[in-house]
Amino acid sequence: MQKDNIQALGKLIATPKNVLVIGHKNPDGDAIGSCMGWALFLRSLGHQVEVIMPNDYPDFLTWVPAQEEIVLFSENPDSVQKSVSDSDLIFTLDFNHFSRLGEDFARVLKSSDSTFVMIDHHEQPDDYAEVCISHPEYGSTAELVFECIFHLDMLDKINKEVASCLYLGIMTDTGSFKFPSTTARTHEIASVLITKGAKSSEIQQKTFDSSSYHRLKLLGQAMQNLKYLPEYSTAYIHLSQDEMDKNNFQKGDTEGFVNYGLSIKGVVLAAIFKEDKNQNIIKISFRSKGNFDVNKLARTHFHGGGHINAAGGRSDLSLKETMEKFVHLLDAYKTELNAAL
Ligand code: 5GP
Ligand code: MN
Repeated sequence: MQKDNIQALGKLIATPKNVLVIGHKNPDGDAIGSCMGWALFLRSLGHQVEVIMPNDYPDFLTWVPAQEEIVLFSENPDSVQKSVSDSDLIFTLDFNHFSRLGEDFARVLKSSDSTFVMIDHHEQPDDYAEVCISHPEYGSTAELVFECIFHLDMLDKINKEVASCLYLGIMTDTGSFKFPSTTARTHEIASVLITKGAKSSEIQQKTFDSSSYHRLKLLGQAMQNLKYLPEYSTAYIHLSQDEMDKNNFQKGDTEGFVNYGLSIKGVVLAAIFKEDKNQNIIKISFRSKGNFDVNKLARTHFHGGGHINAAGGRSDLSLKETMEKFVHLLDAYKTELNAAL
C-alpha cells in the first residue's frame, strides 16, 4: 500500500465531513461488507456518513449491522442526487468504473464536484478519484479497507460491528478463505476481526445457510441444465427466465451456482448464463482455476470484467445464441484452457 495514498486519506478524514460511501450495482457480500464497515468506522471519527447502493441486495445480507440505513438509488434517485450535491467526500468501494453503477447513477456522479476516493481490488481502474487505492492483488475490498485502517493506525476504532462487516466481505469474496487470493495475511486479518468481536460461525451461517426451499429447487434445475465439455476443460449452466419464474426466483438466489461447474475435476472454466427478460440481456458469471484469465474473456467478448479467476459480463443476444457464441469461442482458447492446471 502506497504511503502517500494513506497520508492523503488520513488528511481527508482528519476533520468531520459530509461523506458518502457507494458500492456497485447488484451489491454482493464484499460491496455491502466493505461499505458498511468503512461507513461505521468513519462515523466513529465524527463524520456524517450516508451509504448508497445503486439497487437492492439479496435477503441473505439483511443481517449486516446498520444495513437498514442504506439508501437505494433505484428507489430514491432525487434524494441521492441531493446527497451527492451536498457531499464533501465520496468513497467508491468495490468497483473502479462508474459504468458499474448503471447509466443514471453514473451520470449523477460524473457531474459531481465532490472529492472522490476509490478503494477497490478490480483490474484497470478508471481515473475519476483524487485518491486511488487500487490493489487487484487483494482478495476483497474489505481486506483492503482493513489495511487502510491498519496503516492509518486506527485499529482501535474497529468495534464488533465494523469487524463483522469486514469479516463478511473477506469471507464472501475469498469463497470462505478458499480462493487463491487468500494469503497468510488474510487469515491474520480474520483473526484480528474475530478478536474484535466478529462471530465467524454465526456470520457463515447467516450468510450461507439461509436458503429458501425455492432456491434449492432452482439449484436442482440449474444442475439439470449443466453441460460439461471435457475437451475444453469447461462446464456451464443456464437458467431461462421461465425456469427462474417457476422457482420463485429472488435476488441473490443464483449466488454460488457457477462454482458447481468449477468443482468438476479437471474443469478450468465455468460459466452461468441467466436470462433477464426485464433488462432484455443475458447476465453471465465466469469462474476459473489456475491462470486462465476470465477477466480478459469477459472484457473482450461480453462487455464485462472482474478478476483473473472471477468475472462477469452480459450479452444482448438470446440465451441460445449467447451460449453458442461462448462454445464457439472456446476453440480459440483450447490450448490455454487445457494448460491452465
Ligand atoms: P459475479 O459473477 O459474482 O457477479 O462477479 C464476479 C466478479 O466480476 C466481481 O468482482 C464483479 O465485480 C465482476 N463483475 C460482474 N459482472 C460484471 C460486469 O458486468 N462488468 C464488470 N466490469 N465486472 C463485473
Ligand atoms: Mn469485491
